[in-house]
Amino acid sequence: MSHADTTRVQTVIGDPVGENAPVPRAKLEAIFADIQSDLRYDHELNGCLNCGICTATCPAAHYYDFSPREIVQLLWTENLEGIYDAMQEKIWACAQCYTCAARCPFGNSPGGLVMLMRETAHPYCAASSSSRARSSTDARSRSATHSSALSGEGLIRAR
Ligand code: SF4
Ligand code: SF4
Repeated sequence: MSHADTTRVQTVIGDPVGENAPVPRAKLEAIFADIQSDLRYDHELNGCLNCGICTATCPAAHYYDFSPREIVQLLWTENLEGIYDAMQEKIWACAQCYTCAARCPFGNSPGGLVMLMRETAHPYCAASSSSRARSSTDARSRSATHSSALSGEGLIRAR
């Protein structure tokens, strides 16, 4: 199969149903079980309308290949391969501002779910988590600037 025929997930973790999957199914299931076992998980994920309000108000989504809607959907639909892929890079773009939690009509906290995934990533994806710490700091800085700009335009208001 040529590179052009592979999806991003296949590039990162290989063919999850192939005989020689680089990331065994058991590991993907263990990672998701760890995320779900956290006491905060059920509080921060109540369902998802896939409405995209969280992404529309997310400063990190403005700058990076990152969408809190996508993260929530991956968890809600138990997309284990997608969850693992997101833990390699995407989740490290979140600035932890929690604008998403204030806006979600379902009462979800995508930013909180990202934090759970980051905490879980350390034992399972140590290389990616440590290398992303610095870029996450950069994201916070950029997002703070972006949030200030939005506030100035009246697009974000205190509740
Ligand atoms: S997490 Fe909430 S705001 Fe985001 S897509 Fe789902 S329902 Fe909409
Ligand atoms: S907490 Fe993260 S996902 Fe939520 S709005 Fe802020 S940067 Fe986006």
